[in-house]
Amino acid sequence: MQTNLADFIKGSVEGNEADTILRTCVHCGFCLATCPTYQLLDDELDSPRGRIYLMKQVLEGQTATQKTQLHLDRCLTCRACETACPSGVRYGRLVDICRNIVEKQVGRSLGASFIRYALRQVLPNPSIFATLLRMGQIIRSLLPKRIKDLVPSKARDAGEWPSVRHARRMLVLNGCVQPAIAPNINAAAARILDRLGISLIRAENAGCCGAVSYHLNAQQEGLDYMRRNVDAWWPHIENGVDLGIEAIVMTASGCGVTVKEYGHLLSHDHNYAEKAARISELTKDISEILEVETKNSPLINYSMPNASSNKSKLSFHSPCTLQHGLQIHGAVEKILTTAGFDLTFVRDAHLCCGAAGTYSILQPQLSKQLLRNKIVELQSNNPTQIVTANIGCLIHLQSATPLTVKHWIEELDEKLRDH
Ligand code: SF4
Ligand code: SF4
Repeated sequence: MQTNLADFIKGSVEGNEADTILRTCVHCGFCLATCPTYQLLDDELDSPRGRIYLMKQVLEGQTATQKTQLHLDRCLTCRACETACPSGVRYGRLVDICRNIVEKQVGRSLGASFIRYALRQVLPNPSIFATLLRMGQIIRSLLPKRIKDLVPSKARDAGEWPSVRHARRMLVLNGCVQPAIAPNINAAAARILDRLGISLIRAENAGCCGAVSYHLNAQQEGLDYMRRNVDAWWPHIENGVDLGIEAIVMTASGCGVTVKEYGHLLSHDHNYAEKAARISELTKDISEILEVETKNSPLINYSMPNASSNKSKLSFHSPCTLQHGLQIHGAVEKILTTAGFDLTFVRDAHLCCGAAGTYSILQPQLSKQLLRNKIVELQSNNPTQIVTANIGCLIHLQSATPLTVKHWIEELDEKLRDH
């Protein structure tokens, strides 16, 4: 694609990046069929190709309008279009760059700005979030249905976190909403890794990965969260504390995809570029770790005696951040089937469930439609439970089904505890 960037962005770091991305798009339209919003709205401007066209106009100097903003807001940033694109267009980066420009040109109403500000204050702050969650749980029966569905009545007990006893060690990201809603996820990962001879460590002062602010166009704020995590993890990695860390484990694929990008996003910050690149290199989704560690391990016996009797039938929802963002395909499914679980076939597994970070709050109608469709597909082959790999999807799916929705690592941990 030919481009002619406007003076306001030409030659800047972001301008150069956006220009390179735009030039890789050949307008073939292969991405259209996989785009959830195009499927629902049947409007080219709600497709990846249409949005790329809108973004090109803005980058070439045409002032953005509310209509431009609306079409970009409706994008889930699910990145299914990246998986489908034969030219390797990095749509996710392009939309992050352009949303920020459009936000500055178009602005928001006072109400919309307040909601976005409130989300940025509450979600990345575990203590505020935990307090509000507790209050929500107390008055749950009085809440409007839409909010009530999102407030879990009680978190599953986290159980024991094994003591640090192994020479092999890995860090884990605590995250922001996960410790309050599902503390068992990281504890389950710690127990499984402990069986494999690896101690999982939580670094003090690490917290939100920065994705919430970054994707709500408060990019500097998002980058500050990222720097804070780099500062929290670096002593463990560099100074030999805890004998050195082999990996930084992510149990939420939404955070994982962001931390994997720290190296890129902080590449122009001289104080952080090198450390951030190292941290991204060390970052692994828990499925990547287990895929390698369980290959020859006698500690996890995957040929479990009761594998054929009393099988749990699981429906796995692969989050967009796992399959399109991190490009991890089949790892979780392989681990679960080897462990003796039955996995149901899920049609249109590439489609987003509609959670997409804060999308379910900011675009409730579209999000609900996607959720309804996803639940139908996940339940179509009569699973006993649904499992996923990201806390946002977990909460969103649980709001629409009577089946229990868990992180797959919790289910595996439960199974291993019985043996
Ligand atoms: S598939 Fe890729 S190259 Fe083709 S229109 Fe979509 S983004 Fe552009
Ligand atoms: S990120 Fe998802 S919703 Fe956005 S254009 Fe790509 S496929 Fe469509």
